[in-house]
Amino acid sequence: MTRVVLVGPPGAGKGTQATALSRRLGVPHISTGDLFRAHIANGTELGLRVKAIIDSGGLVPDEITNEMVRVRLADEDTRAGFLLDGFPRNTGQADFLRDALGGVDLDAVVEFKIDEDVVVGRLLGRGRVDDSEDVIRHRLDVYRKETAPLLEYYADKLITLDAVGEVDEITGRVLSALRDRG
Ligand code: ADP
Repeated sequence: MTRVVLVGPPGAGKGTQATALSRRLGVPHISTGDLFRAHIANGTELGLRVKAIIDSGGLVPDEITNEMVRVRLADEDTRAGFLLDGFPRNTGQADFLRDALGGVDLDAVVEFKIDEDVVVGRLLGRGRVDDSEDVIRHRLDVYRKETAPLLEYYADKLITLDAVGEVDEITGRVLSALRDRG
């Protein structure tokens, strides 16, 4: 069983790694950012409600995010496990996830550790709507204040990895760390 949460600041490479890891581990990659962007692209009601928040770099309210994740985790393909990317992003969402899993524990929480200066440079090169410098700074503030407390919350499951290096090399680091965990 592979139930893994990926945590790290914006631009740490979680999405890239989650795509590779999903293929290697045979479990779905669930990115709340991707789910929100799909809603926005499809012009759904949820998409219309969250667009301005996402463009400004704030967090979507927990009740919206949690409900979207609850629906996704009910899909059949998550039975064998999942890689959560971008969720939980605060301790309220983590409490929700614990309840949603009904007493089944996560196997690991992987922290992608990287300097803020490095991620600002990477994100500026990416060119997404929410990747302008002031929005990036705001997202980093939100990460520090809201998301970083999860590292304490998940202390007993936490695997911290250096997120700087070649893509394949980092995938290898994650896989071997998960293997060591058993
Ligand atoms: P990144 O990994 O670059 O920070 P994401 O694609 O994960 O970007 O998320 C983009 C945006 O979507 C966030 O800045 C936030 O507005 C919203 N979002 C994603 N996940 C969550 C979440 N778990 N809770 C609240 N908002 C979220």
